[in-house]
Amino acid sequence: MALTRREFLRICSGSAAAAGFSQLLIPEVYKALAEAAAGNPSVLWLQGMSCAGCSVSLLNTVHPNIKEVLLEIITLEFHPNVMAAAGDLAMSVYEDAITKKAGQFFLVVEGSIPTKHDRYCEIGEYQGKVKTMADLTKRLGNAAKAIIAVGQCATYGGIPGAAGNYTGAVGVQDYLKKPVINIPGCPAHPDWIVGTIAHVLLFGMPELDRFGRPKAFFGKCIHDNCERRRDFDEGKFAKHFSDEGCLYELGCKGPLTYADCPQRRWNNHVNWCVQSGAGCRGCTEPGWPDKFSPLFERTPGVILPGVRTTADRVGKVLGVLTAAGIAAHFVGWKAAKR
Ligand code: SF4
Ligand code: SF4
Repeated sequence: MALTRREFLRICSGSAAAAGFSQLLIPEVYKALAEAAAGNPSVLWLQGMSCAGCSVSLLNTVHPNIKEVLLEIITLEFHPNVMAAAGDLAMSVYEDAITKKAGQFFLVVEGSIPTKHDRYCEIGEYQGKVKTMADLTKRLGNAAKAIIAVGQCATYGGIPGAAGNYTGAVGVQDYLKKPVINIPGCPAHPDWIVGTIAHVLLFGMPELDRFGRPKAFFGKCIHDNCERRRDFDEGKFAKHFSDEGCLYELGCKGPLTYADCPQRRWNNHVNWCVQSGAGCRGCTEPGWPDKFSPLFERTPGVILPGVRTTADRVGKVLGVLTAAGIAAHFVGWKAAKR
């Protein structure tokens, strides 16, 4: 294979990411994938408690290149939103994989799994019997060669698993009590999904962080790579969403969030949350959204520029300071240091 792992990772996470990983699938990665994919590995997509947004993100955003990946590189044998088959014919794909193809297919899971009652999430019927998300996750998960959890719901429980959580929703790794490859995000970026599947096919298991996320995509802090970082360092904070300046005071969770959104950007690499003025909401982190709620209030615990303490200790003071006041405070602190 001509493409080395080092080159692949450079394409995934280097400056080339800004041009769009999906566009780079052809010819370099695509060629390597085609060589490696002799026998077209089977991929089964299982969709539990979710909004299907990760499927939309994957299938629409990188179209048409993803079509070639899904039809020519891998064999996507089951996807509830795009497959033509229905009923027993469709559901037999799952059953055949479990009984006849153990260890020979990859399982991609989107959505969380209910633990309070199986019937909270049903996938379909096979030979007159209801097949639930909980049952299929367990049986397919135990038979799969590798499991890739896609999106915040499948990785860490997401919105179905947030406060209240009447269904007892959990992510795949918590449900199966075994390690999986986690690609979080609400939704997950299509490059993260395709890039991870490509890495598994070409080089095996990617290097993961302590939350099971591929380091190639989730190894950097948003805050350290944000185009408004200079504003943060200079104490220039936006007071309204249309203002210029760092969005920290408006609840940006970039300092606590790991993902490559600033370099990769979204919507075919046009824009991303901070650039659009909304701020990062921390959607790739375990515990989201509860851990970051209220989403639109300043997050405590971040060391602010010019203030030798964390934001929660000075929060009440900063809450009434104007942006100009904060900047003046910072300038004064710098002058005092000199
Ligand atoms: S707090 Fe948010 S907007 Fe400000 S520099 Fe960090 S990531 Fe960018
Ligand atoms: S910038 Fe933050 S909220 Fe937006 S997609 Fe990336 S991790 Fe999620």
